Amino acid sequence: MQDLDSLKADLATAIRLLTAEGLMDFNGHLSVRTPGDPNKILINPRSVSRTSVTGGDIVTTDLRGALVDGKLDPPSETPIHTAIYRLRPDVVSVAHIHPAIATAFSIAETPIVPVFTLGCLFGDGVPVFDKPDLVRTDALGDELAEVLGARRAALMRGHGAVVVGEGVVECFNACIWLEENAKKQLTARQLGNVVHAFSPDEIARVKNDLWRPEVIRKTWDYYTAKERTGDARVDRAKTRGKSASARAARTRK
Ligand SMILES: [Zn+2]
Repeated sequence: MQDLDSLKADLATAIRLLTAEGLMDFNGHLSVRTPGDPNKILINPRSVSRTSVTGGDIVTTDLRGALVDGKLDPPSETPIHTAIYRLRPDVVSVAHIHPAIATAFSIAETPIVPVFTLGCLFGDGVPVFDKPDLVRTDALGDELAEVLGARRAALMRGHGAVVVGEGVVECFNACIWLEENAKKQLTARQLGNVVHAFSPDEIARVKNDLWRPEVIRKTWDYYTAKERTGDARVDRAKTRGKSASARAARTRK
């Protein structure tokens, strides 16, 4: 079982990565059941920027959204998470994201269908929660959870999406692949009149091949390395900036 601090660190990392990919923006949230107690969840607090959140910021609530541990308030839409956890004992992690392209499908009333390999995760459909209201009550959370049913993801019309996973890393992967599938489906529609979706057989085969721990981990490693490389670039630029100003100062002397 993963220890609490390392799980909090992974949760914060996944939030920063989803933000960097343009999927979470300033209001999204990601949660996970606590190790050893499935009736409590870890979630990013409402007020901390999704670009800089760390494991130390993460708060704990019960399955009704009451704060159990931590100093800051959980997000106002925590009922999205708690309702799904109450309905789905199989779900370990829940994301609420604002992906631009996938959300547009809910506005255009066009169903998302699996059109590329990892889009097979959504082979049983991506239903749409038809209310554009913020989900701030248990009653609305329950309605959304009912729409999601046993599926991997649901869209929220004109708002965003909910995505679920067997853990933080799986949930992160599924968020990435939902938007990627939507992008490819949109591009294909712009190229011609045919959207050649995968057949049920193809969905089962390809999902079996690709939804595996090593592929899931590889995706996670790719995006975490991308964050580190980005940081390294900023550090190098800062160093260059310092040496350039030091040179300029020497020249002025
Ligand atoms: Zn939202």
